[in-house]
Formats: sequence, C-alpha cells, structure tokens
Amino acid sequence: MNRDFAAHLEALYACRACPNVFGEPVTGACGDARVMLVGQAPGPREADYKRPFAYTAGKRLFAWIAEHLGIEEADFRARVHIGSVIRCFPGRDLKNGGDRVPDATEIANCGAHLDRELRLLRPELVISVGTLSAKQLVGIAELKQSVGRMHRVTRAGHSFDVVVLPHPSGRSTWMNKPEHAALFAESMRLIREHPAFSAAPEKSSGYSAKSRARRR
Ligand code: SF4
Repeated sequence: MNRDFAAHLEALYACRACPNVFGEPVTGACGDARVMLVGQAPGPREADYKRPFAYTAGKRLFAWIAEHLGIEEADFRARVHIGSVIRCFPGRDLKNGGDRVPDATEIANCGAHLDRELRLLRPELVISVGTLSAKQLVGIAELKQSVGRMHRVTRAGHSFDVVVLPHPSGRSTWMNKPEHAALFAESMRLIREHPAFSAAPEKSSGYSAKSRARRR
C-alpha cells in the first residue's frame, strides 16, 4: 500500500466530522485496486467486524458476486476497494425501522474521503450499490433508469465507468420484478466483462483490523 493511501486511511479512521452518526468509520482498504465499490453506509454491525458489508446485506451481495462474477468474498475484497457514500453508521430511521438515510451535510463531509480515494486510486470501474450511491455517482435516483447500463462519470478530476446494482438489503423488493432482475443481470455482465475487473490481480487487501475506540 503506498504511503499516500495509508495516510488517507489514517485520516478517514480518525474522522469525527458528523455528530449524528454512530461508531467508528468503516471502509475497505485495497490500496492498489483498479475497481471500487461504493455502497450507502455501514449498518450497525459493520463497525464491530471492521469491514463493510460484513453482515446480512453482505451475505446477499457476496452471493450475487459468487454467482455472477465467479469469485468468492475474500478474493473480491482483495481486488476491489469497498467504500460507501458515508463511512459511519447513520443510526435507525424510527419511522420505517430501516437505517437512516444520510443527510446532505454528512454526504458532503464524507464525499471528501471518496474524492480523495478517486484521486489516489484512479479506478477504471466503480460499482455503485443502491439508490443513494447511484444518485451521488451518476445523478439518477431511479434504479430502473440506472441499473443495466454503463455510465461514464468524471469526479475529483478523474473519469471512470460506473455500473449500478440495487442494494442487497433483505428489505429491498426491487429485484422481485422480472424486468428488474434482467437489468441486474445485465449490470453483472457489464462488470464481469469490464477490462478492469477481468484484469484485476488477486492480492492481499492490506486491511488493517487494528482496534479503534468507538465514538459512543
Ligand atoms: S460519516 Fe464520513 S465524514 Fe462523517 S464522521 Fe464518518 S467518516 Fe467522517
């Protein structure tokens, strides 16, 4: 891992910019990835495991990846840098029982970390997972308009391809419609056949599981 990326991780893990989130920041740490994945935010258990998509949504995500991309979770984590729109658990939404959608200030605060990663890693492909991530990366809030297509995005002075997936949360029913499942399968094909994904070397993630004090 190069020193700039290591310094980025230190800054990210130390960040406490948002007063209404919980626990410590959670991120993948693949410092020479050609592919990134950007989800919405960690859930309540990810800080305990110190890695993104470590619990129920991750089980579904990595089942999709094994089935459609042909690689297992450990290999994917070693090849793909996994981030999210915000890196701390936003808390529960008491109205619907799900996780709270990050607010605009939190998205802007944490967008600085994402921008720094884009500048450092210069990924050729970004896999965007879920509605909020797609809205931030490709500017489209409707999954049926963003899934199943290759998008070209310029952000933080870098241009890259984006493929959108629905969120793997068990609460999401988006995939129940056959036309949506077909769009999802097309997104998976676009990832599988993308030169950056097919050429990504297998390597150690360099993930540091060092313990860090919880915010609360
Ligand atoms: S959500 Fe992002 S910007 Fe906010 S405290 Fe966590 S790491 Fe920092």
